[in-house]
Amino acid sequence: MFSKVLIANRGEIALRILRACKALSLQTVVVYSTADKDASYVTLADEAYCIGPANSSKSYMNQAALLFVAKVSGAQAVHPGYGFLSENAAFAERVVQAGLIFIGPSADNIRVMGDKIAARNAMLASQVPCVPGSKEALGTDASSLQAMAEEIGFPVIIKAAAGGGGRGMRIVHAPSELIAAVKLTQEEARKTFGNSEVYLEKFLQHPRHIEIQVVSDSHGKAIWLGSRDCSLQRRHQKVLEEAPAPNVDSQLLTAVGERCAQACRAIGYQGAGTFEFLYEDEEFYFIEMNTRIQVEHPVTEITTGIDIVQLQIQIAQGEKIPFEQADVVCVGHALECRINAEDPNSFVPTPGQISGWEAPGGLGVRVDTHIHSGAVISPYYDSMVAKIITHGKDRKEAIEKMRLALRETQLSGILSNIPLHQSLLEDQTICEQSVDIHYLEKLLSESV
Ligand code: ADP
Repeated sequence: MFSKVLIANRGEIALRILRACKALSLQTVVVYSTADKDASYVTLADEAYCIGPANSSKSYMNQAALLFVAKVSGAQAVHPGYGFLSENAAFAERVVQAGLIFIGPSADNIRVMGDKIAARNAMLASQVPCVPGSKEALGTDASSLQAMAEEIGFPVIIKAAAGGGGRGMRIVHAPSELIAAVKLTQEEARKTFGNSEVYLEKFLQHPRHIEIQVVSDSHGKAIWLGSRDCSLQRRHQKVLEEAPAPNVDSQLLTAVGERCAQACRAIGYQGAGTFEFLYEDEEFYFIEMNTRIQVEHPVTEITTGIDIVQLQIQIAQGEKIPFEQADVVCVGHALECRINAEDPNSFVPTPGQISGWEAPGGLGVRVDTHIHSGAVISPYYDSMVAKIITHGKDRKEAIEKMRLALRETQLSGILSNIPLHQSLLEDQTICEQSVDIHYLEKLLSESV
């Protein structure tokens, strides 16, 4: 059992974790870079320590500094949030070696899921459906590569085992391009990720991105908390998310959700996690598992009434998940708009001082943000400054509430992508159908 938590992150998620800790009567320790010294959560925390300059490699990524703060403050557990060190197996290991609790899965589980070949094989072992592809790292023998790709069927995608953030992937349309593409991707993977292993998958041409939220405790209890659709993406970055994923057969979804929970039990997973799938022609294909809390977790919280961050902490305390699968009911529909400090047309980040901020409100409106009037958005970090979440009895009502919430939102001093969200919520296809992962980029290319 622990009573003091070190929050090893910044921005809205630092505040989100702080709130969860307070609700559980836990002491909080936050860290901040010199650029974040005036952040609201710094004054809300029980203790706060400056860990370095704005550059995150010298502050939020500085493992030694974080462990030092844990020691000095007497924190007994570390919550990594998302990004930064949240999926760094070596950090999770160091935290445990220092006698602390890592609020998340074991370093071994993080490591397996960080290797896409190992992750695929772990999923196949639990009958989680995967994209047809190679089970092992590709060799260099031309004829066996050709035979494998022909069997799967072109187009195929070559992916780095250690890839992440949408990098280390190459689509191959014709057999004549295959060998060169494999070699090039291996070389790129070696340079970018320090691991040249690549594998091959069928390239799906018009999939949706649907993911399943899971929680799993140290007593072998694993539960899935429903689905999210995050198909609206630009450059592999999610822009607008929703729960539940619309227009998916509920029996099919239940079958996949149960497989995900089963996979958690099989690997002894502990904490919250997300299974990401591509969904095409009524079939799910696993692509990766995120072993951390995700940006879009509030749409699941608001539709299930379950506080996932509190649950992460309770699981790390060794507690049993206090409900059963049958108790998880998805009520209504939720949307989340990621508000980024960026030019809505060029997408260039727009750091600077916020001169005015007024958040929307009303029943079924949630705003997760650390910003306030006078806050300075630093160029050093992610441009996401707020998340607006709406909840309605159905998708239509959630959309209407979001339109109003965006109209109510006042953000001045910097440009933001609020106008982009407003136009997305006026797009008939988005409002009435389910779009694929390429839809937003196509829409943007047509509008220039
Ligand atoms: P990363 O870890 O870099 O995010 P993912 O495996 O999650 O890598 O893939 C990122 C994105 O690449 C997916 O969201 C999808 O847009 C695209 N992608 C990956 N695999 C495939 C595939 N087999 N077919 C079509 N698109 C794919």
